[in-house]
Amino acid sequence: MTVTNMTHPARECDCRHEPQGCAADRKERRIQAGRAQRTRRLKQLILGTAFLGLLGAGWLYPLIGYFIPACMLLGIGLAAFRGRNWCDWLCPRGSFEDGLLARISPQRRIPQVFRGTPLRVGVMGLLMTVLTLQIVRLWPDAWAIGGAFVLLLSITTGVGVVLGLIFQQRTWCYICPIGTMSNWVGKNRRPLLLAAERCTECNLCAKACPMQLTPAAIKGLGVMPHRGDCLKCSLCVGNCPTGALAFQDNHIDRAAA
Ligand code: SF4
Ligand code: SF4
Repeated sequence: MTVTNMTHPARECDCRHEPQGCAADRKERRIQAGRAQRTRRLKQLILGTAFLGLLGAGWLYPLIGYFIPACMLLGIGLAAFRGRNWCDWLCPRGSFEDGLLARISPQRRIPQVFRGTPLRVGVMGLLMTVLTLQIVRLWPDAWAIGGAFVLLLSITTGVGVVLGLIFQQRTWCYICPIGTMSNWVGKNRRPLLLAAERCTECNLCAKACPMQLTPAAIKGLGVMPHRGDCLKCSLCVGNCPTGALAFQDNHIDRAAA
């Protein structure tokens, strides 16, 4: 496997002789990362605010609730190609969490139990059972079924907010049924790779990760563990000062490093 140098500018310099790149290279990366982060934050703020509006409107007009199954299909469908990329900023609730909830979250470590299969499968089983029973009970009243979706979304968002206020804003994303299914479907899509010779173990990648993953924990040149829960948000890639991280499908320039 090979790792790309994300931002290696097309210019003459001696950075190809330094494993971690030259100062100009690092500065270029910082500028690009800052730009990308500002764009992502703006998108999340807009979508997160729209999500709250949509949820409120759903109580007045329950047919809006049908955007939930649409989100499920889109999220899981996209996972087949790009892993959990939907959960980055395309998911309205994920955007709300990063764009708004993160501002008041204490940023504590997400407990291991939320990352484990038993709780994730349990929550998914419970929510899917409740949803199915509600649909069967209310069938064929489309208005009432839409209302059941809105109620479920409101309750799970409330749980997500409480978890975000206790731990970290993305805690819910570990037990969200769409996230769990996307994890399974997209486990090996767009793996994140590390060029070990460039890594200085500064841990800035882990600090930037909204899912509290540790990209630099890869031993040697390899694929990141917990890859099924990587949102492919690129925050770790952009925040790595030495360009040690890249997705496998990015352009390859390791020969020039
Ligand atoms: S940001 Fe992560 S991958 Fe990059 S040098 Fe620091 S520890 Fe290594
Ligand atoms: S590992 Fe990197 S790309 Fe994946 S979620 Fe964390 S910061 Fe985003």
